[in-house]
Amino acid sequence: MRIQSHKSKYEEALRSVRLSSPVEILKGIGSRRNAALAKLGVFTLEDLLYLIPRRYEDRRFVSTLSNLIPGRSQCAIAKVIKLTVRQGFTRAVIQDDTGTAKAVWFGHRNFLREGMTLAISGNVDNKYNVNEFVNPEFEVITSPDQKYSVIGRIFPVYPANSDISQRVLRTLINSALENYSEKCVIEFLPEEILKRFGMMSNREALINIHYPKDNTSYIRARNRLAFEELFLLQTGMLLRRQKFSGTNSDSRRAQVLKPGKSFYAFMNKLPFRLTDSQRIAIHEILEDLSRDKPMNRLLQGDVGSGKTLVAFAALLTAGDSGTQSALMAPTEILAWQHYNKLRKSLESLGLRAGFLSGSLGAKERREILQGISNGEINIVIGTHSIFSEHVNFRSLSLVIIDEQHRFGVLQRSELISKGISPHVLAMTATPIPRTLLLSLYGDLDSSRLNELPPGRKAIQTIIITHENFSVLISTIRERILARHEQIYWVCPLIEDSGERDLTSINQAYERLSKILPDVNIAVLHGRMTPDMKAKIMQDFTDNKINLLISTVIIEVGVDVPNASMIVIQDAGNFGLAQLHQLRGRVGRGEAQGVCVLLEGANITPEGRERLNAMIRTSDGFELSEYDLRQRGAGEICGTRQHGINEFRVADLVRDEKILLLARNEARALIKRDSKLDSEPKLKREIYRRLAGSLELAITS
Ligand code: ADP
Ligand code: MG
Repeated sequence: MRIQSHKSKYEEALRSVRLSSPVEILKGIGSRRNAALAKLGVFTLEDLLYLIPRRYEDRRFVSTLSNLIPGRSQCAIAKVIKLTVRQGFTRAVIQDDTGTAKAVWFGHRNFLREGMTLAISGNVDNKYNVNEFVNPEFEVITSPDQKYSVIGRIFPVYPANSDISQRVLRTLINSALENYSEKCVIEFLPEEILKRFGMMSNREALINIHYPKDNTSYIRARNRLAFEELFLLQTGMLLRRQKFSGTNSDSRRAQVLKPGKSFYAFMNKLPFRLTDSQRIAIHEILEDLSRDKPMNRLLQGDVGSGKTLVAFAALLTAGDSGTQSALMAPTEILAWQHYNKLRKSLESLGLRAGFLSGSLGAKERREILQGISNGEINIVIGTHSIFSEHVNFRSLSLVIIDEQHRFGVLQRSELISKGISPHVLAMTATPIPRTLLLSLYGDLDSSRLNELPPGRKAIQTIIITHENFSVLISTIRERILARHEQIYWVCPLIEDSGERDLTSINQAYERLSKILPDVNIAVLHGRMTPDMKAKIMQDFTDNKINLLISTVIIEVGVDVPNASMIVIQDAGNFGLAQLHQLRGRVGRGEAQGVCVLLEGANITPEGRERLNAMIRTSDGFELSEYDLRQRGAGEICGTRQHGINEFRVADLVRDEKILLLARNEARALIKRDSKLDSEPKLKREIYRRLAGSLELAITS
């Protein structure tokens, strides 16, 4: 029993407890448990309440001892009739009305006595024809109407670890549910929605996600919590969009762009026919550009599907309309390659291109900046530095972002904050599953290039272990020396790290230049100066270099048709999107493209799974869905740092239906009440959970 002064202090503390209170407010959390909880990502009461069980154990059915089935986890109620503690084991013979069995625990259970009745739950083993509970959970039953704490219902199994046990986690979560949930978990979803869908309240859902009564109540609880997450996000995104688009519509008008002389001249001179999906994409983009509402479109197309051409059509349209446009690439190499390829065509069409990157010399930079601000440069091609503070466009109407996934979430707000509202086209070869698109961007339009230009041969993908290294080398020799083709060789590291057992560029270079003395080998990596990188890329493009050893720096976009083979060393260490991108560097010319995945010594099971997936399919969308399952959303789109994807319950692969529902409800609500004046609790919850990730300034 608690003494009076303690009690009132405790009650006072209780009154000020919130979801954001630290877990230490719970009894029984000292610094060790605190550290263990932190490892699980649990810092606050809320984190604890939302620590979702990994799975459940159905302990509703209590077996009799004579009916125990070896090899399964079961429950029973039985009396201890014999107890021995020896050599670090506690052993009991237990009995009920139907028979006897045994129980064994590692370690001492000093408080056990013969004659006690136990509720017991655990795995049953059969030894010498006797059934035995192995290390079962148990509780001593002291009165006939006692509520069981280890049997009699469905039990949660948490992501416990060696620092904190299931039992402790369960106790803590129970205590949070019992003592605080009523006070702290406040319903925020609109009542009308709860009613219409017959949804559980959030408190009920939390109780049921930990202790579902049955399968139905589990599903209802889960769906409610998934809906809540997706609905908050969708509503939050709509609020954000409003904030950035402002209410006075003039300031957010985009320029109306129409194709003209250069567009048609270019299209008429194309050396090949557009693919159907290129034609459709260009059409959709021209439609968008012809309106004064800013385009917000994603162009998805697998590696090699011809996105650059579509972008080019849009750039020409902006030029024809007497405005400026920008093409932004994630790396200098890629930006430079775009610039080199497009400049000549642009000039022959009467448009001037400028290259801008962080590494330009001061004089060059000044000239370019001047050209941009006085409008002499029509099209700026470069890296992210295009949007640095010193760049002033005269009339920027269109921004194209290549390989958008490398930039993370589209920073439209960044553009708008410069006082302009251009049309935006983002391009990606890492296909983003629809659910992820919806949840990240809400209303982004999308076009898809779902075919490759005709005549492309499928790329052969093979996994090779080190035993077959010599076969690989002779293939390389033949491709380079007899057929004058070129080869990429990709390593995970630049220098040896010693720590990890991965091959570095240096190692590969030493080894390969010994085995292949008559082959011209060069290395390329991110620590080289931009000039050196550009020079090497140019030499490779001109076939002065036969074999290029590099890091993933060549991952995106690089286009050298004569390179027919790519070897990826320690391939299990790369992500699927990366592997797929790397593979896309070959198969661009006449020769059969080959992608060799060198397995590496210490490949993990997940790594091997990825390599198998690469063999199974060359469809980027399939790989991307697989990736989403294996790694979760944040990694794929680089959005982890934005925190948008870290759902506790919702699963973007499984919950597409709930996502669509949440989106519709969010739209309907915002349409009705654009500031959420009628839903203050909902509004508060959105800010509380998402303020950081959605860049919502807290306004009164
Ligand atoms: P990605 O979509 O990966 O950016 P690119 O735009 O680099 O692909 O195009 C890959 C190659 O395909 C380029 O060499 C390009 O000239 C060529 N290409 C694009 N469209 C067509 C087409 N319709 N027919 C034939 N070749 C095309
Ligand atoms: Mg490209």
